[in-house]
Amino acid sequence: MGISVEYIGIATGNEDHLMFNSLYTPRQLNWNRVLLNAFWIMLLVHLLNQMLNSHSLLPDLMILGVILLLECIYKWKTVLSEISITIGSYFISSLIIAFLSENIHVKPFFLLLPLLVSMIYLETLYLILSSTAALLYTAVVFGRRVGNEDMRIEMILTISIIVATLLTGLAVIRRGRDLIRSLESSEKSEQDLRIQNIIMDRLSKIDPLTDLYNHKTFHEYFGWLIEHQESNPFPMQLAILDIDNFKKVNDTYGHSVGDIALKQVAATILKHIGADDFAARYGGEEFVVILTAKPLEAAHEIMERVRTSIAGLPIAEMEGKSVTVSIGMHDFQGSGSKSLVFQKADDALYEAKKTGKNRIVIL
Ligand code: GH3
Ligand code: MG
Ligand code: MG
Repeated sequence: MGISVEYIGIATGNEDHLMFNSLYTPRQLNWNRVLLNAFWIMLLVHLLNQMLNSHSLLPDLMILGVILLLECIYKWKTVLSEISITIGSYFISSLIIAFLSENIHVKPFFLLLPLLVSMIYLETLYLILSSTAALLYTAVVFGRRVGNEDMRIEMILTISIIVATLLTGLAVIRRGRDLIRSLESSEKSEQDLRIQNIIMDRLSKIDPLTDLYNHKTFHEYFGWLIEHQESNPFPMQLAILDIDNFKKVNDTYGHSVGDIALKQVAATILKHIGADDFAARYGGEEFVVILTAKPLEAAHEIMERVRTSIAGLPIAEMEGKSVTVSIGMHDFQGSGSKSLVFQKADDALYEAKKTGKNRIVIL
């Protein structure tokens, strides 16, 4: 049947994966793919243009070489992908420019490619370097013909477009970073909240002294099991344990030693019950165990081991003496309310106390 109740688990992950992810998130890595796809489209358009105008295919072959190299880095050296794509964008735009005729004055516009790449990566330094390169190149292209008025107007327009792209890029990067920061902080508070919820959930379910489940959780789980018995009957026993003469332990050794004894009794119970069983501190020096998925004989054996182990466990703080427990057990027979089942086990406990203590009575 396998009903088990889980304490909080700690998930473990692959450390390399975590380190890699701390450098680049999958979302960031996705942008490398987007840019590489854009490069392939640029190459295709350039190739069509070259073929339609019967120009040499040499620049396309060289651009193809650059893109293939970037693809290899993307596949096998992902950490270097971002920087290689940035540098690659300079190569691609320079190659296109290098093979264009002298008479084409829009050549500097191709240097906007690295600017756009820098914007995608939110890299201010790359953006400024790319803009400086584009402006210098504009000066070279138009410099010699600046006497011509048309050329001068073209140069001013080109410079204006590069500067406008630079300023827009800087604003886009600032906005992008703001968004990332607010996303990170909301992710962090969401994570804190989740952790807080787990802690609160644990605190509300666990008895702080013994680390067993508490009274409330016992009633919830017990009620749930009884409900499930109706649709899906399974063997189930309830055991109530009560430490014998515990008041005397407190009176003789003090409450703090009494607490130590309670912890040791709880640990012994946990040590002997199985994965299908459930143990809780009912209150004071009383504990409850729900045993499932086993016949009464097996459940009785487990509780007998619990009883003898507790009786044989010396407690150093009690001069090496032990405590004993009396146990009342009831075997659930497929019908009966929660309170009736509990009453039967409690009656059995009373009987065990009455007939000498340190023993189990089954009703
Ligand atoms: P019996 O064998 O009939 O069960 O006798 P008993 O002395 O164990 O039972 P009684 O109900 O007279 O006393 C229970 C004692 O358990 C009284 C109370 O001080 C003590 N107790 C309850 N909760 C705690 C606790 O959290 N820590 C300590 N140290 N003692 C506790
Ligand atoms: Mg009691
Ligand atoms: Mg007692």
